Amino acid sequence: MAAPKDYYKILEVSENADAAAIKSAYRKLARKYHPDVSGKASEGRFKEINEAYEVLSNPPKRAEYDQLRRNFANRKARSQGPGYQRVSHDWDGFNVEDFGSIFEDLFSGPGQSTRTQQRTRSAPEEAVTVTLEQVMTGTTIPLTVSQVKPCPVCHGTDPDCARCGGLGQVIEPQRFDVKIPPGIEDGAVLRVGEHARLRVQVASNPRFSRQHNDLVGRVMVSVPVAATGGEISVAPLVGDHITVKIPAHTNQGKVLRLRGMGLPDRTTGKRGDLLLEVTLRFPEPFVADDDRLYREISALHQETGGDIHAPR
Ligand SMILES: [Zn+2]
Repeated sequence: MAAPKDYYKILEVSENADAAAIKSAYRKLARKYHPDVSGKASEGRFKEINEAYEVLSNPPKRAEYDQLRRNFANRKARSQGPGYQRVSHDWDGFNVEDFGSIFEDLFSGPGQSTRTQQRTRSAPEEAVTVTLEQVMTGTTIPLTVSQVKPCPVCHGTDPDCARCGGLGQVIEPQRFDVKIPPGIEDGAVLRVGEHARLRVQVASNPRFSRQHNDLVGRVMVSVPVAATGGEISVAPLVGDHITVKIPAHTNQGKVLRLRGMGLPDRTTGKRGDLLLEVTLRFPEPFVADDDRLYREISALHQETGGDIHAPR
């Protein structure tokens, strides 16, 4: 098997280059080597640059290509060592041998198929970031992944078929609407199509942190309301404002638990709690009457505070 072309080298980017870096490298090189600019001699180079960009700018294709390179490097390393043994690895019943062969044929040209050899290959993985609001409600993510499909030309009947190289299968992009269920955990992996996977990351939220299915936030309460008790209006993660009762004599740091106002459990749908930690503040502005009243309250008390605690 021939080594796959080094698309990273062709585009003059590192293997870790992000989409923006790849795009800008491609633009620069395409401008430089465009046959209209630098003549017929650069046509081959221009084609190569376009080919590299087509693969590296498409996440599923790039994942496949990276895997192919790793496989090639592994095989080279292992075949040089003693006691080398090839390993076949199936992912959820997906026949990796067929998939690998198709890509080897794509990259190594005709006549070099190594279909009888076994090889290791892992499923391609995509990643998506969802908001905490989307965790609450669930959402749908459109995603295009490579799928193994029966050859549309020969349907697996022609060993000389040019479209599939006689393998009877081709790899084609397919669009899926991936359902992200409510309550999904950060780092959860969903299966897409026959063999692709989608890793779901949950973005942090400026107002709420997540503890399993509970939502935790800090809420400001004015000192008079905390002293006498009352009601405050708060905006939950999703939906209209809700009224929260503040009991009389609420201290700084008290946690108010609103049952069933948290995130839904992914399996049972049962919602966790909303935990609001009270932060006390004086009402603004501080007027002369406030001063007088607080002095009166102060005069009623011997307690001056002064206990020290390590910060949490
Ligand atoms: Zn075919």
